[in-house]
Amino acid sequence: MRRPGGAVRPAAAPKTTHKPGPQKERGRLTVVTALNADDVRERSIASFRRRTQRLKGHASNEPKEKLVREVIIPEAITIQELANRMSERAVDVIRMLMKQGAMHKITDVIDADTAQLIAEELGHSVKRVAASDVEEGLFDVVDDSTDTEPRSPVVTVMGHVDHGKTSLLDALRHANVVSGEAGGITQHIGAYQVLSPESGTKITFIDTPGHAAFTAMRARGAKVTDIVVLVVAADDGVMPQTVEAINHAKAARVPIIVAINKIDKPDARPERVRTELLQHEVQVESLGGDVVDVEVSAKNKTNLDKLLEMIALQAEILDLKTNSHRPAEGTVIEAKLDRGRGPVATVLVQRGTLRVGDIIVAGAEMGRVRALISDQGENLDEAGPSVPVEVLGFNGPPEAGDRLAVVENEARARQVTSYRAHQKRENAAASISGMRGSLEQMMSQLKTAGRKEFPLIVKADVQGSLEAILGSLEKLGTDEVAARILHAGVGGISESDVTLAEGFNAAIIGFSVRANKEAAAAAKRNGIEIRYYNIIYDLVDDIKKAMSGLLAPTLRETMLGNAQILEVFNISKVGKVAGCRVTDGTVERGANVRLIRDNVVVHEGKLSTLKRFKDEVKEVVAGQECGMAFENYGDMRVGDVIECYRIETIQRSL
Ligand code: GDP
Repeated sequence: MRRPGGAVRPAAAPKTTHKPGPQKERGRLTVVTALNADDVRERSIASFRRRTQRLKGHASNEPKEKLVREVIIPEAITIQELANRMSERAVDVIRMLMKQGAMHKITDVIDADTAQLIAEELGHSVKRVAASDVEEGLFDVVDDSTDTEPRSPVVTVMGHVDHGKTSLLDALRHANVVSGEAGGITQHIGAYQVLSPESGTKITFIDTPGHAAFTAMRARGAKVTDIVVLVVAADDGVMPQTVEAINHAKAARVPIIVAINKIDKPDARPERVRTELLQHEVQVESLGGDVVDVEVSAKNKTNLDKLLEMIALQAEILDLKTNSHRPAEGTVIEAKLDRGRGPVATVLVQRGTLRVGDIIVAGAEMGRVRALISDQGENLDEAGPSVPVEVLGFNGPPEAGDRLAVVENEARARQVTSYRAHQKRENAAASISGMRGSLEQMMSQLKTAGRKEFPLIVKADVQGSLEAILGSLEKLGTDEVAARILHAGVGGISESDVTLAEGFNAAIIGFSVRANKEAAAAAKRNGIEIRYYNIIYDLVDDIKKAMSGLLAPTLRETMLGNAQILEVFNISKVGKVAGCRVTDGTVERGANVRLIRDNVVVHEGKLSTLKRFKDEVKEVVAGQECGMAFENYGDMRVGDVIECYRIETIQRSL
């Protein structure tokens, strides 16, 4: 039997472990005993209470008093920990789970929903926390509003491929990288500050590779962008990715400024762009709306000042203010492992000021700021709000979209990062162990079992590109086929990647990275395919094609012709033969046929013979008469229609 007093145990006084000796000499009054008088008394009360409880417990068998607790439930929790937090026995929890048909061990991790159900059923109240207590106070501590000052706007340039995003960004900072770029997409994420010439406002531009990175950052709760500049080529108009960009901006509730680019081209039709935008609920000012539009040419550098001025104006309307006199908060825009410098992260400071020497956490990584490097390559001592900087000093590269915070000391940093690393692992474990269990889960599991997977290993040069690739690949998936990313990382393709690929029969994709010698040899030896790309669209396109190959082909039926049965002959040795006239199309030997009586299909099969007069023929065209017999079927009647068709398999694509 359990000790009845067990549940109340936490109420017992703390043990005074640091003073073992003096308590024995209770009667003598020394300085030590006088100082520790409280301890002594508490101890005796506790032991007294224990004794009475013990007596009470022995005397009566009444059920122990139920303790109702407020149980804090994080996203994933072990059964052991949940039981502890509820002061229940873990076996009881396991038993409850078992009743629901889920078998678990005490060390298994369950998700928050299941944990909440259990806790509530046991009569406890539940407090769900998104992130554990360690995260508290890390972000979004309310600012003292009197202490704020204006900050520069942060702008993302979006638009359809080849409409001139890169050219525009480059024109804006008077550089030119387009010529050295591998393809239409911006491959590297950076951020730059530009001075608007008239008002002197600084504007921060973020250079994201397409929209996937924008969404990925947003998905992690990082609201980085204040204004979206939507680039639309005047000679091309609104294209699919233009629409995508509009949707992203709207979802993020970020104002749009339309830059109608390539206005220098003879076939530029800016008016068409404006009307086309109307269809997507972007109403420019000249058409009675409130969206600012500027006609620009990135090539001739026309109207760029005006665009910057419009951004500055929009920023003024947004009234962007923040407090720079506080520890910094920011978002990682890009991170990589640099050979010479170690982990390097491009961080956009959003509030407060980041200084050299600050202790920082971002995602599951921590560090001490060793150096801050501006977009101009200068070393800085500090970076204020809206300033993008390269941060050196991380222990490992964080992920793009991770939020960065400055913490008071290393212990706190370690606490936060180890918690996050732990949570990452637990979440992963929960999603795996969640595969077994309830019927609902099993059903979905069955569903996914029928779904074909395309195993891939993706390696890329920088985190930003990787995110963009993963985002696009994820979107390719359907109910039937999906890309399964076994591993994704930044850096060259190593031998261990090949080993992993081997185990799962996966293909390896290298984006702007190559396999090292050993890896290449191993891949060749084991027949693992490594594919190299430096343009995201090519990569996605290829995967799409490969995945289409995995889709079950569709069978499509092509009508060949119809024939009407005029007479049925019974011929010895052959059996029944129908004398017919082909009414339309052709009838072919070897093709599939259906026998239709009063519009109902009575038989489906193949023709065994197709005769014209006495001769076996390959096909009979409309208007001619012929004799037909079915394979293994003889019940034809006059007036029936024979429908002849062919089945074609069509390889589907996504
Ligand atoms: P992105 O894919 O949106 O980044 O587009 P890019 O900046 O790579 O530009 C695509 C192509 O359009 C390049 O060949 C540019 O030279 C060209 N381009 C960009 N801006 C202009 C412009 O204002 N006028 C003309 N004529 N061509 C431009």
